[in-house]
Amino acid sequence: MLKNIFGKFSKDLGVDLGTANTLVYVKDKGIVIDEPSVVAINEKTNQIIAIGQEAKIMIGKTPPHIVATKPLTDGIVSDFEAAEKMMKHFIEKVHRETFTIMPRPRIVISIPLGITEVERKAVEDAALNAGARQVFLIEEPIAAAIGARLPISDAAGNLIVDIGGGTTEIAVISLGGVVTWRSLKLAGDELNKNIVTFMKERHNLLIGEKTAEDLKMKIGSCCETDENISTKVKGRDLLTGLPKEMDITSVDIREAMKKTIYTIVENIKSTIEETPPELVSDIFEKGIVLSGGGALLGGLDERIKQETGIPVSIVDDPLTCVVRGCGLILEDIEALKDIFAVSTHERI
Ligand code: ADP
Ligand code: MG
Repeated sequence: MLKNIFGKFSKDLGVDLGTANTLVYVKDKGIVIDEPSVVAINEKTNQIIAIGQEAKIMIGKTPPHIVATKPLTDGIVSDFEAAEKMMKHFIEKVHRETFTIMPRPRIVISIPLGITEVERKAVEDAALNAGARQVFLIEEPIAAAIGARLPISDAAGNLIVDIGGGTTEIAVISLGGVVTWRSLKLAGDELNKNIVTFMKERHNLLIGEKTAEDLKMKIGSCCETDENISTKVKGRDLLTGLPKEMDITSVDIREAMKKTIYTIVENIKSTIEETPPELVSDIFEKGIVLSGGGALLGGLDERIKQETGIPVSIVDDPLTCVVRGCGLILEDIEALKDIFAVSTHERI
């Protein structure tokens, strides 16, 4: 009874709980939250002092008693309390304008492929503790494919590659299910680390991960045929200990990211090798589809095309594709019941 009353005033939500960014979609409204998955905690008082964008700015700039943590690592909840608090904060934010005292929404949440039962349970419990009355878990590549409006219910192969902050998910989907797949703990964050290491080893320049990410977005390149551009980067000279500015080119960044990009491309190839031939011929025809923030990396689409011989396209607005998929599912939860990885018991 009470559940029904609270449920009535609650908005159903789609949540993309990503390693890098958390997005929330509200039924009939669209995306209302798009913030970095970061929580800043005062360790002296154990209180949260900032969540999202506000907390991200603090990374690397906090005094010792304040820690800016990421609740997720490699797509998995690694700090349960922070994940729960972050979700609670977003749920309350969404409901604030409707003056719902105790929001009890139904939530569709995306999870990476191949996570363990315990890891799934952590996502589910974090959402339930944050106030959800029912949680539906959906595998991320399926949500991305629905967000991209691929015809995944047909008996035909669709190859989707979602490159986020912590994980790269490669999946061939047919008849609403995943046929062959890989989930790599290598994605955007690893590329940033590769750039930090390269700058240190090749140029004796110490830079932070945020600066590395800026370089990746600005002049990142995966393909020999990409135009060579350069930009200035500031860091600390490891020889003198003093600040230094230098020019860096996209050839440098390509060299820095070489190994990780190679691993991603090789895994796409081996996933195709394992896929039944009928589905491979569909993929040849339809092409490979890229989603997630990593899809925007300079020349990655062209590189995958060169290496696989298959056309490659990038979904519209790759950073919001998964949450838009969760939103489309929300609009029709009953009809799409079969595609959920697990649906939980309701909590009163
Ligand atoms: P997650 O689902 O793990 O939260 P996202 O799909 O939000 O990840 O993507 C975040 C990742 O995408 C980050 O590693 C970020 O550096 C990367 N990214 C975002 N925009 C670009 C860009 N223009 N070029 C290259 N990488 C990008
Ligand atoms: Mg993602």
